[in-house]
Amino acid sequence: MADAHAAFHAREALLPEGWASDVRIEVADGRIARIETGSDPRREDERLAILLPGMPNLHSHAFQRGMAGLAETRGRSDDDFWGWREIMYRFVGRLTPDHLHAIAALAYMEMLEAGFTRVGEFHYLHHDRDGNAFGDPAEMSAAIVAAAADTGIALTHLPVFYAHAGFGGTPPGEGQRRFVHDLDGFARLLDRLPDVLATLPDAVLGIAPHSLRAVTPDELAALVPMAEGPIHIHIAEQMREVADCLAWSGRRPVEWLLATMPVDRRWCFVHATHMTGAETAEMAARGVVAGLCPITEANLGDGLFPAIDFLVAGGCWGIGSDSNVLINMAEELRLFEYGQRLMTRSRTMLAPPGASCGASLYRGALVGGAQALGAPAGLAIDAPADFVTLDRDHPALAARSGDALLDGLVFAARQGAIDSIWRRGRRVVADGRHFDRACIVNRYRRTLAEIVE
Ligand code: ZN
Repeated sequence: MADAHAAFHAREALLPEGWASDVRIEVADGRIARIETGSDPRREDERLAILLPGMPNLHSHAFQRGMAGLAETRGRSDDDFWGWREIMYRFVGRLTPDHLHAIAALAYMEMLEAGFTRVGEFHYLHHDRDGNAFGDPAEMSAAIVAAAADTGIALTHLPVFYAHAGFGGTPPGEGQRRFVHDLDGFARLLDRLPDVLATLPDAVLGIAPHSLRAVTPDELAALVPMAEGPIHIHIAEQMREVADCLAWSGRRPVEWLLATMPVDRRWCFVHATHMTGAETAEMAARGVVAGLCPITEANLGDGLFPAIDFLVAGGCWGIGSDSNVLINMAEELRLFEYGQRLMTRSRTMLAPPGASCGASLYRGALVGGAQALGAPAGLAIDAPADFVTLDRDHPALAARSGDALLDGLVFAARQGAIDSIWRRGRRVVADGRHFDRACIVNRYRRTLAEIVE
């Protein structure tokens, strides 16, 4: 990895208050120490053309990158999320900590190349292949941390509490044996994690009750006070989950959670696809971040999030790559918008009147993603110097400035528009390639050859 630079000069930069020209940024200890606009470059400055803040990826299961494209053969009967989950359980049954390290390194490298500078790792693969706990309860978390360290991505680690197969405390199935904890076991994992994360410069620790299927109300009530950071949960991703929740409690999943738990801005509801108007309005009013994963939700046939109502209600949202079937930040934003266009048979749905859609999407995902990951948002004093720079010569950006650059990036660029990625002032991606790409890909290919039959 290259040395950190202490000063940058950008011709155009997206600051929290909007676009600015001739922006000088000084960096100390990996953080932004000073920002000046309308400033001449100095000799020592690293010169940049177009500077954006790095994008948070608020929801990832890194290991699933290794099965990307392996679940696309049509089954004999109806194929849906639940059929995909059986293939995922078979894949997960084979992974060692070294395998996880290699696969996560590939995923995190691809995230950086795509413009994601922080990942929220929703981590539920805790135990050994036979389902027994490792001697160190954080053995698998350590593999995730090692992959973050190798690649340079910032990590918000979200260890998952998972105990049951269905609503009402159903015992876990065989395919879930590597995921499950009781509350004491989970507390031991949480105690251990600060030491494991201490090797990363700006890691954040949250928790993730997996879903209302996997956690009983009593367990959820015990987990919430354990959280010192963000709280993430999968919710209302599937119609069957909504029906099962109604049968169990008489309430829909989001309705149940909002009525029963102290839900506030610390929470991220991942997917929240199937909601009524009342649930959507209440979720927005509480300041909960909607964790949207458009590529995965399309791949799994989940449905479309009620984005228009949620945004009208002032809701906060971010994007995640979830199953990592394809890691592409611009495409997540594009598909989020296009889903709403297809549903409403209309255009430019997710921007206020008169505003750029690409810029509204980029800013929305930036602010909501940072809130969900417990990290500062954007190019601001004390935030990490995590930068995305665009290629001024890319055809999709020709003759554009300001918000039109983000429309070009989101809607018109096939690839290559992202030039460099900087983490804490160090360049980790140059000309679109991660500094350790060859090594990471070789290790990944050897790993996949061991796992995939
Ligand atoms: Zn997920």
